[in-house]
Amino acid sequence: MSGVYRAEYIWVDGTEPTKKLRSKTKVVPKGEAPPIWGFDGSSTNQATGDRSDCVLQPVFVTNDPIRGGDDKLVLCEVMLVSGDPHPTNTRRACAEISQKHASFDTWFGIEQEYTFFKGARPLGFPDGGFPAPQGGYYCGVGADEVFGREVVESHLDLCLKAGLRISGINAEVMPGQWEFQVGPLSAPEAADQLWVARWLLYRAGEPFGVSATLYPKPVRGDWNGAGAHTNFSTKQMREGWEPIMAAIEALEGRHDLHIANYGSDIELRLTGHHETASYKEFSYGVSHRGASVRIPWQVAKDKKGYIEDRRPNANMDPYVVTRLIIETVCGAASGSAPKAREVVTA
Ligand code: ADP
Ligand code: MN
Ligand code: MN
Ligand code: MN
Repeated sequence: MSGVYRAEYIWVDGTEPTKKLRSKTKVVPKGEAPPIWGFDGSSTNQATGDRSDCVLQPVFVTNDPIRGGDDKLVLCEVMLVSGDPHPTNTRRACAEISQKHASFDTWFGIEQEYTFFKGARPLGFPDGGFPAPQGGYYCGVGADEVFGREVVESHLDLCLKAGLRISGINAEVMPGQWEFQVGPLSAPEAADQLWVARWLLYRAGEPFGVSATLYPKPVRGDWNGAGAHTNFSTKQMREGWEPIMAAIEALEGRHDLHIANYGSDIELRLTGHHETASYKEFSYGVSHRGASVRIPWQVAKDKKGYIEDRRPNANMDPYVVTRLIIETVCGAASGSAPKAREVVTA
């Protein structure tokens, strides 16, 4: 193409209770950065019809691995025409708190679990019935155990071509369920990359007629739910044990607030079964996958490193989760933590 490139503008909408991704294409003259743009907020639960204009402010631009060439993916913050962040814009507060606590140099590694669907059934679930019980599917191999690998491989390829920091992928415990990990990165970068990786996941499924859902409990009964374990560390935690224990204590003090902001229908997933701790109480342990927070064994051995918050749902907003963790852990360490159990905001 001569003289122009295609910019795919991606943004997070206002759908309740779980926001969705939207995107549309702008043709931009070569050599120009993607400009501020707009959309009809009345179609995304972000405005009323009589004042429908919302503003797209580019914040993260990367190569478009699908179209290739000079084409770009352009992740945006949603703004009001006044120039203020839109009420659904959770990125701004995340960026601000990260900036405020920059001296902690916080890193996040997020494990995004998800479930493929073909029509109304999870991939691998026979029509009107159920597959063999869980046990062989996690990190499995073979056509009787693994469903959707062609989409997973395509997604990984696209993420890497887009320059996203993916640290790995694996098949999960329930058939049709998979995971990819983003990070470690600081905030809001980890969250930006996760949102773009989610968009690429949905997009990768299109040619296969396969959809992906982040719903936390896609099949009721004896089937694992889908989470977004959030591994994190501060510079201080990477250097010693005391800050690790202090971080856990701070998280315990604001357990209810975190649970209320870690994704809708979290109580369906955090039952105390299927590798989860009950949402009703906070717990932690070394190597413990039935705890709210797990200390990896290597970290316990080295007496430094990171911890894994296992509570976040697959459908969580990573701007909210990373913002809350920074606010709670860095706030406590610097004596500026907001009161425990404050009013839920997100
Ligand atoms: P699990 O054993 O729970 O399945 P994974 O290997 O899926 O763990 O994910 C672990 C995540 O933790 C990865 O995204 C990795 O990049 C991240 N991670 C590793 N070290 C750190 C650290 N010091 N701070 C934050 N995240 C980290
Ligand atoms: Mn994992
Ligand atoms: Mn997992
Ligand atoms: Mn994990």
